Amino acid sequence: MKIETNQGDIKINIPKHFTKIGLKHSGGLDSTILAYILALYKREFRPEIDIIPITLVQSTKPFQWMYAHMTQEKITELTGIEFGKHYFRMYESANILEGQDELVIELYNEEIIEAHFYGVTLNPPLDAFPLMLATTDDGTKLRDTDRDPLPNGKLYPTMCEDHLWQPFANIDKRGINDLYNRLGVIDELFPLTHSCENYNEHTGMQLDLSKHCGRDSCWWCAERKWGFSRLDGLPFDMIRPT
Ligand SMILES: [Zn+2]
Repeated sequence: MKIETNQGDIKINIPKHFTKIGLKHSGGLDSTILAYILALYKREFRPEIDIIPITLVQSTKPFQWMYAHMTQEKITELTGIEFGKHYFRMYESANILEGQDELVIELYNEEIIEAHFYGVTLNPPLDAFPLMLATTDDGTKLRDTDRDPLPNGKLYPTMCEDHLWQPFANIDKRGINDLYNRLGVIDELFPLTHSCENYNEHTGMQLDLSKHCGRDSCWWCAERKWGFSRLDGLPFDMIRPT
């Protein structure tokens, strides 16, 4: 399956011998549109595959399971495609590095998955917003430099080994925005994703998950705003319990 974007084509092509396909799904913008694309792929080309969502919940972002679950339900409603069992585990860290995620390794060892997808995207350009260049007190860059564009126009591999695909490795949040719009799910899925990691300075909690803080000091809000020109999906008066 090929989907055009304004930053290049996204290709999904799972070899016939794989049918148990993991998907790292945080419930954020990138992994959620990837979940939707894989649901379309299953519906149109490979009904026999199982898409198995895996959520590595970072202890600093306990809401990830909830957003992953909600977006899976919405994708099922939109496509008629059911996901496999949703595996998840909490990790005591803000940074879960690829290759260190024991849950994914366990799922391979137990033969629950045979291959998997990871929705990592490219960082915005260095001049996209001021926080792109910010560092902590000890000089560590705030952004994840492993996501920086490669020099001389080189591209990241979208397939690693023969069983890990990262189809968004060479597109940034504006490319992800383009995908939501081309696939016609911006209104349905965008509001169900959450990017902000900013905590209330007094309570240490995110008190209102229906909103993003939108502060210039919040890297995730800055990237979301740069990519989508908005933060929250619904006007305030529509955010209330049913
Ligand atoms: Zn924020």
